Amino acid sequence: MAETNGHATHTPSQRYLSTRGADTDCSFEEVVLQGLATDGGLYIPEVIPKATNWKSWADLSFPDLAFEVLSLYISPDEIPAEDLKSIIKKSYETFRHADTTPLVHLEGNLHLLELFHGPTFAFKDVALQFLGNLFEYFLVRKNKGVPEGGSRHHLTVVGATSGDTGSAAIYGLRGKKDVSVFILHPKGRVSPIQEAQMTTVLDPNVHNLAVTGTFDDCQDIVKALFADPEMSTKLNLGAVNSINWARILAQITYYFHSYFSLSKNTEGFQVGSQVRFVVPTGNFGDVLAGYFAHRMGLPVEKLVIATNENDILDRFWKTGRYEKTPAEAAPADDTRIGGVKETYSPAMDILVSSNFERLLWFLYHEYAVTAGLNEEWNRTQASQAVAGWLKDLKAKGGFGPIDGELMGYARRDFESERVSDNQTIDEISKTYGNLNYMLDPHSAVGIAASRRSLERAQSSQHISLSTAHPAKFSGAVERALSGIEGFSFETSVQPAEFKGLEERERRVREVANSWNEVGKVLVEELAKEKA
Ligand SMILES: *Cc1c(COP(=O)(O)O)cnc(C)c1O
Repeated sequence: MAETNGHATHTPSQRYLSTRGADTDCSFEEVVLQGLATDGGLYIPEVIPKATNWKSWADLSFPDLAFEVLSLYISPDEIPAEDLKSIIKKSYETFRHADTTPLVHLEGNLHLLELFHGPTFAFKDVALQFLGNLFEYFLVRKNKGVPEGGSRHHLTVVGATSGDTGSAAIYGLRGKKDVSVFILHPKGRVSPIQEAQMTTVLDPNVHNLAVTGTFDDCQDIVKALFADPEMSTKLNLGAVNSINWARILAQITYYFHSYFSLSKNTEGFQVGSQVRFVVPTGNFGDVLAGYFAHRMGLPVEKLVIATNENDILDRFWKTGRYEKTPAEAAPADDTRIGGVKETYSPAMDILVSSNFERLLWFLYHEYAVTAGLNEEWNRTQASQAVAGWLKDLKAKGGFGPIDGELMGYARRDFESERVSDNQTIDEISKTYGNLNYMLDPHSAVGIAASRRSLERAQSSQHISLSTAHPAKFSGAVERALSGIEGFSFETSVQPAEFKGLEERERRVREVANSWNEVGKVLVEELAKEKA
């Protein structure tokens, strides 16, 4: 086995390596603070732990369940149990619902998992509330014993957003000690409610930068800052996008939690029965957490990936090829000219899914294991395959078709569905009309996919993940429902927390579309913050 850097007391699921092979034997703290691996790969645990006692978790509260799940991936040598418990408690206290992520029965074998009861009304809160507290915990610990006026460790989180990630990151990090957060959004191009959510947070460690450019420009600026050695070391940059392992980890909990809720409220469904999860998918973070839950032992019949018209994942499951632009004729309703299509579910508008790399590693690893050689060889094979595929993705815009045996593993655990904009709007109005339940467009993509899955597997219980509150995406919801008599967005949709939000005091700084300029602004704002 590889030599250890002092993490020998950690179990293999508490030690991390890079999907591309260069980093091995990393601690949880290293992977969380580092974000991306040094070789450009993503961190994964050496093994996915089997939770042999998972059935005994059935009656645990959400935080207690989170503790059981997270403990398998975090050594108590790194975060003692009591500390981890208090980080978790603090992270989920901010949720408005007693059950944290409640499961709602829609009809028949269809259930909706509401993940939007956190501070920013979207599922990203589940992970980012936790990540914010983790960052603070690690930094404060590093600073123990630093004398008054001494130089403290400080983390500067920088991220780009088209809406959801930014607000969830800001609410996860506001007021945290020894951490600052800079969120870049394209000026005038995020929804009014999302802009208000972000810019009305006035904590001194929160900095909103409105870039005169597009979301892609914002992402390019962030990448350039991270790639610049001076910036990245001088400012100790940290990442909050979904490549951060802690985000995936935190999301595993609600797969178990919703499964137990289902078992308590559904006749004929016992702990041990199989379930289908349907997941509206963009960067593959959310559904990857489901894959981990399944590999840990949760009885999952299928994970159904639901994409919008940005359907690279759906095409992969159908063809075995992972390509930015389809080689074959695009579906008739596809209006792309290459690049990302703007849809009614903008949080899923992606060209490639960053977390898919993690699944590829595990698929190839499974394949390597059948050769019966040693574990070190298996890992090397998987890393080499992943590095090769990602190289082709960068150089040629895609790879595949991949080996049939690998596709067999992928299809054993996953199915996929593509849901168009029209189908999304239809689903919002149908579900409202028939069931009196208002879906946001992302959740509607999931429900539309669930209905197709139910046609194939009528007798299976389906848990469809609801990733945002409808009030966050009023444009699509109004479009779908405005014809309905008596419908008023203000009275039917808007939560009290959003009322008056747009009139509140804001703090935002406009910046030029240039990473150099943004770099200067970072340095300047950090100096002001410390003064
Ligand atoms: C981020 C997001 C998604 C997609 O989640 P991934 O982990 O990127 O697949 C879906 N819906 C909403 C509302 C989101 O904010």
